Amino acid sequence: MAQQDVFELAKKLFYRYAEPLNLDARYPGCDILRRLTTPDRSVECRLTFQRDDGTMQVSRAYRVQFNDDRGPYKGGIRFHPIVDLSETKALAFWMYLKTAVVDIPFGGAKGGVAVDYESLSLAEKERVTKRYALVLRDELGPGKDIPAPDVNTSQREMTWILDAWRMIHGRYERGVVTGKPISMGGSHGRRGATGRGVVITIAEAAKDMNLELPGATAAVQGFGNVGSTVARLLHEAGVRVVGVNDVGGAIVNADGLDIPALLEHVQAGKPLAQFPRGEQIDRDELLVMDVDILVPAALENAITAANAPRVKAHLIAEGANGPVAPDAVDILTGRATRVIPDILCNAGGVTVSYFEWVQNRQEFYWPEQRVNEELRRVMVGAYRDVADLAAREKITLREAAYRIATERVAEAAVRRGVQ
Ligand code: GLU
Repeated sequence: MAQQDVFELAKKLFYRYAEPLNLDARYPGCDILRRLTTPDRSVECRLTFQRDDGTMQVSRAYRVQFNDDRGPYKGGIRFHPIVDLSETKALAFWMYLKTAVVDIPFGGAKGGVAVDYESLSLAEKERVTKRYALVLRDELGPGKDIPAPDVNTSQREMTWILDAWRMIHGRYERGVVTGKPISMGGSHGRRGATGRGVVITIAEAAKDMNLELPGATAAVQGFGNVGSTVARLLHEAGVRVVGVNDVGGAIVNADGLDIPALLEHVQAGKPLAQFPRGEQIDRDELLVMDVDILVPAALENAITAANAPRVKAHLIAEGANGPVAPDAVDILTGRATRVIPDILCNAGGVTVSYFEWVQNRQEFYWPEQRVNEELRRVMVGAYRDVADLAAREKITLREAAYRIATERVAEAAVRRGVQ
């Protein structure tokens, strides 16, 4: 990640996809390509927090506000040892493309802290999170930059940020974060929204491929919020989920894993790989299993030039951000593997974040059914726009998604005029 400079790679891919749009010719004198690939603002700061034994620990904290041409900055916060500025820039870049693909009125941002968050105590976690809100207090705000959960952050962290905001500014401002619990002004359906959106796009792609979901096979990499929801919803749709993994290992069962039982097993705090009704395999072998559908739902660069030639799935749904490394993109295209790109596939999370923000502005809350219906409408509409353009232009879904997003943001950027 840091070694290969993920942001430089992300930009390269963007330039390649933007070339046929001829933006510099259409918008002369606007330096538009540079504008779309340069973050508006990157903040890197020292974050010091107190450990339970009284000692201090210093970490780096980041917030990259990439683009707000279509609306306030929006994007998650991740707490993970590999977080760095280049990764945060790449994720913020993808975030503004993502909000544009699904056409919700936000820009894109991302933040994080480079810390081994999982090893901290609960009190230490609260201190890190509230410190993050404090050091970035001038950057965040409901009309400016709105964080949400990402890797290792959840409803709990969003509540802490909301609380820190209230203490700093002396007033409630629920829309300062999304992904909150229902009791704190969260939206029904937000927690499962990313996974639900992934499965909606899988169902649409399956129709285009004449793949019947009942009886099809799938492997899911990652069993966090996104992966576990995808596994559950695929199982409910009649798909045989034959393999799943997490950081601790992988578990497979050719007849299909009993996903409800596996969820109970994991919720009880037991290691996923020790699920009794399945066999353990090497964690990374999961990605090259002989399945119809593969859902990488963990971190970036799961599929690279090294393992892409061995990937057997016909359909890859990018539940994570950047799970297919740029050097693997052409290999998969050459093998006729259909890939639903991250900026479309996992956009359900930020879409329901938008619904949450709307509900917070109105202080009027929707029932879950309405949230799920609106989510379906947005995801199916976005998928169809992308798939139709891809079919018309004979390009990949990724290229089509980039074209649609880039056109939308470029148009907004130019309309804003000189800044
Ligand atoms: N972290 C999620 C993502 O990468 C959600 C962002 C949001 O809801 O703002 O899309």
